[in-house]
Amino acid sequence: MTLSSLSSHELDFIDDDEFHEECGVVGIWTTQDAASLTALGLHALQHRGQEASGIVTYDGNQFHTHRGLGLVGEVFDDPRVIASLPGGMGIGHNRYATTGETQLRNVQPLYGDFEFGGFAVAHNGNLTNAQLLKQSLVRRGCLFQSSTDSEVFIHLIAISLYSNVIDRFIDAIKQVQGAYSLVALSKDMLIAARDPLGVRPLILGKLPYIQDENSWVVASETCALSSMGADFVRDIEPGEVIIIDHDGVRSIHPFADNTSSRFCIFEYVYFARPDSVIENKSVYMARKKIGAELAKESHVEADVVVPVPDSGVPAAIGYAEASNIPFELGIIRSHYIGRTFIEPTDQIRNLGVKLKHATNRAVINGKRVILIDDSIVRGTTSKKIVEMVRAAGAIEVHLRIASPPTQHSCFYGIDTPAEEKLLAHTHSIDEMCKLIGADSLGFVSADGLYRALQEDKRNNQNPQYCDACFTGDYPIPLTDHDMQLVKSK
Ligand code: SF4
Repeated sequence: MTLSSLSSHELDFIDDDEFHEECGVVGIWTTQDAASLTALGLHALQHRGQEASGIVTYDGNQFHTHRGLGLVGEVFDDPRVIASLPGGMGIGHNRYATTGETQLRNVQPLYGDFEFGGFAVAHNGNLTNAQLLKQSLVRRGCLFQSSTDSEVFIHLIAISLYSNVIDRFIDAIKQVQGAYSLVALSKDMLIAARDPLGVRPLILGKLPYIQDENSWVVASETCALSSMGADFVRDIEPGEVIIIDHDGVRSIHPFADNTSSRFCIFEYVYFARPDSVIENKSVYMARKKIGAELAKESHVEADVVVPVPDSGVPAAIGYAEASNIPFELGIIRSHYIGRTFIEPTDQIRNLGVKLKHATNRAVINGKRVILIDDSIVRGTTSKKIVEMVRAAGAIEVHLRIASPPTQHSCFYGIDTPAEEKLLAHTHSIDEMCKLIGADSLGFVSADGLYRALQEDKRNNQNPQYCDACFTGDYPIPLTDHDMQLVKSK
């Protein structure tokens, strides 16, 4: 079966054609209600993972845990659940399963009882040497309870010969490779850490309305702070470990010689919520600027600029402003289609029900349309949308993409298909355009993307971001993946 042979009806139902977000983490250090605050933060980070959610709190005597499959609102819908999580310190996690199947035992935060007391960890990112570490840990007698890569942190901390929690934690993170933004909770402290290249975001905030001055929040994105009424303090730096305890906040840099940021450029394009601010850059404004660069680089005469909602919207506004072509909502997205939507019967399938998107004929009919989307993964969604826009009366459909062609898989915590399933890996832009059925197809260049983010241009000697899914330049070794390749030869 080829892409070009599929009808749009069939395309509605075949496998997902989107990148999937990684995970979201929250940590709270205050005097009360850590569980409610953590749940509010996780709710704001729902876009980073929708398959499972969990919270661990500590009340000064013991740890309390609740984890479940589903959205935050489903897992914590019963007030008795939050009431069963007392304490002023807590961490939470939203999961999209990048490794390990979605089962309750894989839902984070992970918790272990150590000789120094309880310890819970929540991880956003993906480790690239987890399998290698796991093999050696299993040989040493460690019993893994889950299939998630994050569990190696628990075992590395458990077997560390250092005597205190912080030294054990640092000992563990020095052995892992990959992307991680971590929050961890012991009975004495909240710990937050980013990998040496800071691939995934992590920020520090403060709870101004709580009388105790020593009330802190860590979270994946600033949008979580708004939902908790917290103030932004700063981004946690690449390679930085933050320790929050009864004496306040302190910062250590265990990788002092080896830190230069390679933040995931795709967070700006797609993953982060548009109202978040990362590295002092508004994600929304960055997306608008990417759209403006796209307009400069691949202008085409047209009557209307139409975003593919939701993530294409800010780039389409930027494109429309830069090209002086009117912006219109020509595609409406249904927000009520969940991942667990039951596959419809053939009868319904034949009705051609469009599950996710519907066209707004009033602004498309008889028009030359520029469609703006954030990325092309397998191309199935793009083909379907172009077909729908034509069916709504468009006389020309020009597809513009607010990222360079995605030619490579991500190994740092974003769920992407294998390389050979990425349309841009196997096809030229002209071939992609033909398969998708657009009149023309254009992508913003890597330099255009860097310019939009206020960097001069991509510099191979010193790239400021991880952009490996466009360039194949992986900044962190892919140890497990390379071992797999060697084995399969
Ligand atoms: S490979 Fe792509 S998606 Fe993955 S971290 Fe790098 S830029 Fe982000």
